[in-house]
Amino acid sequence: MTLVDYPTFSESPFFYDRRAASIPETEDGIVRAHSAPRVAYCHPKDVGNYHYGERHPMRPHRLELTNQLVLGYGLHEKMSMHAPRRATEEELLEFHDADYVDFLKRVTPKNAQNLTRDWTKFNVGDDCPIFHDLFSFCQQYAGASLAAARKLTAGSTDIAINWSGGLHHAKKGEASGFCYVNDIVLGILELLRHHPRVLYIDIDIHHGDGVQEAFYLSNRVLTVSFHKYAADFFPGTGNLSEIGSDLGKYFSLNVPLQDGIDDESYISLFKAVMEPTITTFRPSAIVLQCGADSLGCDRLGTFNLSIAAHGECVRFIKSFDLPLLVLGGGGYRQSSVARCWAYETGVLAGSALPDELPSNNYYEFFAPDYKLHPPLTGKIQNLNTRQSLERIRVTIREKLRYLGGAPSVQMQEIPPDLMGFLASEEKGKEEREGDEPDSRREGKARAGDLLEREMGGMGDGMGTGPLGGARRRTVRI
Ligand SMILES: [Zn+2]
Repeated sequence: MTLVDYPTFSESPFFYDRRAASIPETEDGIVRAHSAPRVAYCHPKDVGNYHYGERHPMRPHRLELTNQLVLGYGLHEKMSMHAPRRATEEELLEFHDADYVDFLKRVTPKNAQNLTRDWTKFNVGDDCPIFHDLFSFCQQYAGASLAAARKLTAGSTDIAINWSGGLHHAKKGEASGFCYVNDIVLGILELLRHHPRVLYIDIDIHHGDGVQEAFYLSNRVLTVSFHKYAADFFPGTGNLSEIGSDLGKYFSLNVPLQDGIDDESYISLFKAVMEPTITTFRPSAIVLQCGADSLGCDRLGTFNLSIAAHGECVRFIKSFDLPLLVLGGGGYRQSSVARCWAYETGVLAGSALPDELPSNNYYEFFAPDYKLHPPLTGKIQNLNTRQSLERIRVTIREKLRYLGGAPSVQMQEIPPDLMGFLASEEKGKEEREGDEPDSRREGKARAGDLLEREMGGMGDGMGTGPLGGARRRTVRI
């Protein structure tokens, strides 16, 4: 058992833009008409203005590009638009350790050199740099995921989108893989106040390790991650054999893939896994992390997906008509990320978008084609064989057979507990108040505590809650 710190980008040959690569035929968008669910779009004001650093591949500016395309396509007329308030410190503490949150709050590029002892403890540095206003960046994207989750639980929307969220690597007490605060875990905890079972799906090219770890012992959250799994690829977890443990056994599913997977293989495997997962687990809400580094031509990713195929996964999940929280994630070619998430906003809002991009403030970013669906596929050799994909499909089907017998799945409903009910009343009030600049929620039961009481007796006697967040899992090699 060795703790391995895989580099996320510094040694990757795909750090540099592969824009000059040859371009195959154009993909057409796949949008099928559907009943019209209500869609809430959460975009924190100025979230695109933060900067990880000159050489860093993560560019929050991609969120501004996305927003420009969403507005340019007129999608704001099809959705309710929100600029959510920042998450409070108290809200972040529902998952994260107090000393870690305190560090994030205090550290600045100026005083960082005086806090070097904390760098190792909280895993900040190259991948997760200390940049100007880091804490407010975290508060913004986490606040938007919380607001989106609350809109779903309040019943004021059917689908809620936060492209600035989806930072799936952050751990309870440390940063990881460009992620500081895990807005996904916070959003799921919020949903668990009202929903007996929440399904988490992750289509980022990296394993959704932070979310899996947080709910590894829980049978109320089923996590499914589709990702590249290779010895030298971050974060090094996500093998087929990671299935959860204790009450959470069989409630973690992993789909480990190799370089170069194409549209057809990915979509057919995605549907073959997700359809039986949803019918077996019967979630009452779904969280979908749409990391766009699984697209072809990403600077870090090595898949071959087109925007249409990525969006087809979103359309497929939407078709189950369950309350749906849609989040962003990775994505390191800004123009592709913006196109992808604008397209997926269109899919969710039920609008077919013309291939010609609308004029916007950053039009030059979309040269030379200025199209929504530029050719991104076929650049990387596909190392996934028909046999390897079939093996994954069969293995997951077998795991789902065990899942079908699990207590939380057999149970029709888990009655809402009193605290959850009271919290919902308070939330309803907050929901009505709209997007306040900063109001604190007082006297609210902590979701972690709530879950701990419900699942009772799952702690390991060392102060570890059922979320397993205090447990430091190591990476096996
Ligand atoms: Zn990623």
